[in-house]
Order: sequence, then structure tokens, then C-alpha cells
Amino acid sequence: MKKIAVLGATGSVGLQALDVAAARGYKVDFLSANKDSSGLESLARKFMPREVALADEKMALELKALLADTPIKVLSGKEGIISGIYGSDSDTVVNSILGEAGLMPTLAVIDAGKRLALANKESLVIAGDIVMDRAKEKGCEILPVDSEHSAIFQSLVGERRDRIRRVILTASGGPFYGKSRQEQRGLTLADTLAHPTWKMGKKITVDSATLMNKGFEVIEAVHLFDVPVEKIDVVIHRESILHSAVEYVDNAIIGEFSPPDMRMCVQYAVDYPERFAREGEPLDLISLGKMSFAAPDTEAFPLLSLARRTASEGGAMGAVLNAADEEAVFAFLEGRLSFYDISEVVLRVYDRLSYGNNVRELDDILELAGEARKIAKTYIKE
Ligand code: MG
Repeated sequence: MKKIAVLGATGSVGLQALDVAAARGYKVDFLSANKDSSGLESLARKFMPREVALADEKMALELKALLADTPIKVLSGKEGIISGIYGSDSDTVVNSILGEAGLMPTLAVIDAGKRLALANKESLVIAGDIVMDRAKEKGCEILPVDSEHSAIFQSLVGERRDRIRRVILTASGGPFYGKSRQEQRGLTLADTLAHPTWKMGKKITVDSATLMNKGFEVIEAVHLFDVPVEKIDVVIHRESILHSAVEYVDNAIIGEFSPPDMRMCVQYAVDYPERFAREGEPLDLISLGKMSFAAPDTEAFPLLSLARRTASEGGAMGAVLNAADEEAVFAFLEGRLSFYDISEVVLRVYDRLSYGNNVRELDDILELAGEARKIAKTYIKE
């Protein structure tokens, strides 16, 4: 039976990964979370991993007390998560940590020689060249858990990369599809959190509303599939049924269609190259009736174009983009910034640090991300 570890286990994707583990009977060897001690306690009691880790050291102490009656070992801090990855006997590690915090764990999974089921797209946005080079060097398989990239991966099986004409990355368009940039003034948190087709965590739901998430996914696809950004088209597809597709040189388009459900992507990433049955309603094309496609409005959603620019500029600009966006979105979630100004803050930070395209080393990339956060915080205060 497959053995897995889940990082970011108490988040939306982490919980869905554990749903799959329960349904498929995978053994769970290691779990980590940021600071939700009671959430991780109940998962630990259900799955009985050998070790668990919390990034927050104070909460890790609390968790240690909560799990004192079990044989489960509790690790703490960022180092605890890294040592849990190395100590795990899992075949596959699902990395569903949110944000920049997922990068070092991604590199640890690669170094530990395990399959990486990657839901932390930020690893590739921040340091895609480093992550992909390291994976190649170590012979590590990276299986995408992001639904679009899972669809692209599935559409590439058995095909030659040099026969790809373009990648078609679909986007739901988010809750503000059809609104102009000016019409986005005055939009509230409640408006933003009402995503039309996917149930997700708050950060990614906001990123879906600004189309920053789609921008990150463009950068993610460039690295995962080694395709230049010019060959990646974003297509608005409101129904979220075609999860993405690949067009080949003979005009054939191969895509993956299914009901929107991350659990399918997790299961595919763990079981690949095999496929196993899943519970849940399959797609009924007749009751769906039709699907629609449209071009994205890049004037109304400037962060999508900024991400394309980031992909072509390279260096550490992805780290700048991600850091500025994390700061702006968290300020928005706390009521310190308007929806409209999320994009303004990110655009301004990006312009200030445009020399980052020359930055290549991991330490320097992370330092520049720290600088981006500092500048973003100043702009947010203003
Ligand atoms: Mg996605």
C-alpha cells in the first residue's frame, strides 16, 4: 500500500489529500501544519502517523501535550518540518503548504528522493529554476496537484514535448469576471470570497478574484512543462469543467474534463501512472449542455499580464511578485487594504525592485522577497 506524508495538512488541499488517503487506504506517515494544534491533533488521531510537526513552536508544545497519550512524535519549527520530511518513509509527499513557507519543504522532498505531489505553486513561482534543476539532478518526479497542471500533465502522457504548439490554461475568471478595473473599486471581502465554481482557502480565493492565481499558474506551467510563456494561452472558461488542455502541431487538442474536485488531482498524483476508481458524481455532459470560452480582460486584471512579464524576465521577479501579493492579500483579508489596491501595491513593489531579474541564488532570492514585503507594508500603510 502507498505511504504518503501531507504538509499543510489542516488547509483546504491538505484535508482533501487526507480524504483521498482515507478512501484509497494509503498509510499516512507524517503530517505538518502551521499552527492549528487542535486541527492537527484530530488528524493525527485519525491517521496515526509516526511523526507530526507544527511550524509554530509554541503551538507545537501544546500539541505535544495533546498527543502525550499516543506514540506519535511531535516536531517543532521549520526545522521540525524539514526533519520530518527526511525521516519519513513515505513514497510521496503532498506539499499543500500555503505561500513562500512551502519552498524549503519542496527542496527537502526533492533532496530526500521522494515523489513530490505539488500543490504549493509558490515554490515554482519563487524559485522555479532552482526547484526544477534540483529535481532533474536528483531524479525526483514532480506531479502537479493544481487542477490545471494536473490536466496538462495528463494531456502530455505519451506525447513528445517538441510536438506541443501551445498550452491552453483555463481560468474560471473568478467572481469579478466582466467587471472593468474601475468597477472593481468598492468591491468587498464578502464579494471576493464568493467563488463561482471552486471551494478553496481564503488566500487563493482572493488570488482567483484578481487573476493573480492564474498568473502564478502561468509561471508554474512554464517551469513544470518547460514551455516558454509565449506558448501558454489563458482562456476564460466559466464552468471549470475543461481543466486545461494541450494543442499539438497536428491541430489536435487534448484536454482533461471532470467535475471540479481537487481530490481527483491528489489521487492521480499519488497513484500515477495508474488510475483507480473514485467515489463521487461523474461528469454528465448532457446535463451540462454547453461550455463557454473567452479571452481574459488583461486591462481589468493587470496582475495576469504582470505574471507573464515575470515569466519572461525570470531571476527573482517571481519571488517579488509572490511576496508583494502575500502582503497585499493578507492586508485585504484583515481590512487594511481595498480589493482595488491589491493590484496597485503589487504593481508598485514590482516596479521598485525590477533589478531582481538578475538575482539567481536562493539566499539572494529570499532576501529580495523580504525586501518586497517591507516595501509592500509601507505602501499598504500609505
Ligand atoms: Mg488551479
